Amino acid sequence: MGQELYDDFLRYLCPTSVEPLGLVIERAEGCFLWTPEGRSILDFISGIAVSNVGHGCPEVLRAIRAQVERHLHVMVYGEMVQEVQVAMAQRLAEITPGDLTTAFLCNSGAEAIEGALKLCRKVTGRPRIIAFAGGYHGDTLGALSLSGEPRYRKPFEPLLPEVHILPFDDPDALRTIDEQVAGVVVEPIQGEAGIRVPGPDFLPTLSARCQEVGALLILDEVQTAVGRTGRWFACEHWGVIPDCLVLAKAVGGGMPLGAFIGRPELMHTLSIDPPFAHVTTFGGHPVSCAAGLAALRVIEQDGLMKNAEAMGAYLRHAISALPGVEGVRGMGVLLGVVLEEPSLTRAVLRLTLERGLLLGDFLNADGVIRVAPPLVVSQELCDQAVEVLAESLKVARKR
Ligand code: PMP
Repeated sequence: MGQELYDDFLRYLCPTSVEPLGLVIERAEGCFLWTPEGRSILDFISGIAVSNVGHGCPEVLRAIRAQVERHLHVMVYGEMVQEVQVAMAQRLAEITPGDLTTAFLCNSGAEAIEGALKLCRKVTGRPRIIAFAGGYHGDTLGALSLSGEPRYRKPFEPLLPEVHILPFDDPDALRTIDEQVAGVVVEPIQGEAGIRVPGPDFLPTLSARCQEVGALLILDEVQTAVGRTGRWFACEHWGVIPDCLVLAKAVGGGMPLGAFIGRPELMHTLSIDPPFAHVTTFGGHPVSCAAGLAALRVIEQDGLMKNAEAMGAYLRHAISALPGVEGVRGMGVLLGVVLEEPSLTRAVLRLTLERGLLLGDFLNADGVIRVAPPLVVSQELCDQAVEVLAESLKVARKR
């Protein structure tokens, strides 16, 4: 059954690379994926920072079932009052910093970035957008225009004009941000750049500079939010409050959901001159909102942010000590393992998977391994993963 399905996967689905992971998945629960043959795989990438509450979380499944019984899609976003959508937006207003109390709900990270880009143009009337080297914000044309990796931009040019890319984590370079700038889009911790955590001054300096020149600070927390770094949002580690916060991935509890959230006076500009300046059919789908709300509840009730912090520190300490590892970067369970020999990355990933552990690489970084288990991960599973990684590194380095 597995082989036939795999062949059809190759035949009918548009590929995104010449060597897809190609794991056939039968079911998933907690920190594990299962193949049709009954092989279990320890998932240490969480569907790329999505499954923060683990796979098949009972509370999330219950909330989905209850919402399905009530209603699915009823109308395009923004027209009808759907209780679950209101509850989701209200909960986001409660947990986000400052007075980020108005949420536009959409379907994905790239879509949320597109909305944030339109917001900063609409609010300021200015042309220019600033983004950062190494950054990743999605693959729609607007989001791709912000890519800090030229090889992904190149085949699709011309992209958005007036996008300037600055070096990441260089407070001095921020002086070039001037009154021409509508918005600055930045990940507080760069994800696809191989988990790059900026120094203490970068984000506060950036925030101050944006305020000085009247540009909107847009924080892309698609990968960093919803407890993964040990706080609801990574920006809390620096005490920085953006003008607009961009979310997706884990915020839907495993269902597609995105959001860009800002102060009311900024967000309300999208409803006038002209009305319907930004709309979406499926944005804030009721089933996604139900799942996301349940996930937020579980993260809080089960103390998952504390666990993310503790397990992250534990993994970091253990992995740093392994032969072949140059260092471990990150916060909470958002980690990048820098290998001494970058060319071994693919071999190490193949070897860990053969031994039942799923790790990953990054779009914009070579020689770094992605370690991002669900926030529910236990110390026992961390030990298991470290053991497999140690063994795989040993085998790869001997070859
Ligand atoms: N921003 C960041 C920081 C991301 O990591 C991603 C996805 N990896 C995106 C935006 C795009 O999100 P999506 O794939 O949902 O469009």
